[in-house]
Amino acid sequence: MQQAPDMTAVTTSGDGELFAAEQVLLCSDPTTGLHAIVVVDNTTCGKGLGGVRYYPYPNDAAALVECRRLAHGMTFKHAAAELPYGGAKSVIVKTTDQAVDRTTLMHAFGRMIAPLGEVYVPAVDMGTTPEDIAEIGRYVADVECDDEDPAPMTALGVHAGILAAIAHVDDDGGLDGLRVAIQGVGHVGTALARLLAEDGADLLVTDIDEDRARRLAEEVGGTVIDNDSFAATDCDVLAPCAIGRTVSVESIPGLRCRIVAGAANDMLADPSCASMLHERGIAYVPDFLINAGGVILLHAKREQLTRQEAIDAIKGIGPRVADVLSQAQASGATPLAVAEEIVRARLEKEAR
Ligand code: NAD
Repeated sequence: MQQAPDMTAVTTSGDGELFAAEQVLLCSDPTTGLHAIVVVDNTTCGKGLGGVRYYPYPNDAAALVECRRLAHGMTFKHAAAELPYGGAKSVIVKTTDQAVDRTTLMHAFGRMIAPLGEVYVPAVDMGTTPEDIAEIGRYVADVECDDEDPAPMTALGVHAGILAAIAHVDDDGGLDGLRVAIQGVGHVGTALARLLAEDGADLLVTDIDEDRARRLAEEVGGTVIDNDSFAATDCDVLAPCAIGRTVSVESIPGLRCRIVAGAANDMLADPSCASMLHERGIAYVPDFLINAGGVILLHAKREQLTRQEAIDAIKGIGPRVADVLSQAQASGATPLAVAEEIVRARLEKEAR
């Protein structure tokens, strides 16, 4: 028997009532073997825009908890970036006994979620392709199947956020000679490392794919570091760009950085970590604030803005980060609490 999901894990703010999901759809189709979950977290700012993840979850409970957390994160990301979308996400559980081809599976999912057309816009996510989303779109009113890799623009936003955080903690504000440790040199981490190298940063990189880390280190003149002790790297900026929950109650006492700012979603293992970082004098840039470059790009394309307008909007992450860090400093609140308050205020304003 599967264990019940740990629903205490679904809120990052502790304000479960305000941010409780609007709709959760559990989909099961014995003919195709489809097992899927859709969470429409909040549509106050617009339709819930969120990816369709196709992944082999160990059990349904794990899929539900992850979908819930990710949908909630999308509400925050869109609201903080002032985008006209709500938060949503879906997961299709990948199993070995799905006896149908991929297209048939996507059609089955599309038919299941068709009634959510007014509130949910499916998009590409881990494990799905623009072609998959186009197949889903045969049954759904609005889908987002843009095929541009958003990672370089996500990296551009993270870069702008790191520059703002450095300017906040240092008077001169430059990156020249500062040490930035990056975990995960995939699509975002690699693009970020290249931008930071141009600024003269001293890069320390790691990845479970050691060859990839080595190749990038050679390219940018950086150093490969041990992945297991990434969190304890002696550096100015710790930039998790691989997996979530790198910063935890267990890892925080060992941190040797001044700033935590990276692309990874769900960076803090739980919200209490924000207070622990604050007490240690480490500036934490909330993940949903700094890694919104990709969704800002998507919105710019949906609105047919020019490339330059999209880039300018993404670079706007820098001033937002600066504002959150200075409000936190002035009020004594954590940057996470300040950013959450900004989200809450936007949701309340839009709800009026
Ligand atoms: P990616 O899959 O291209 O790269 C991830 C890299 O991390 C890979 O090189 C992988 O080998 C490495 N990795 C995986 N697990 C690891 C571990 N335990 N330790 C060290 N390295 C590990 O992914 P990406 O698109 O670069 O995204 C990176 C992170 O940023 C993810 O958390 C993602 O959710 C988040 N993010 C990405 C985007 C985007 O536009 N791609 C947008 C917002 C947030």
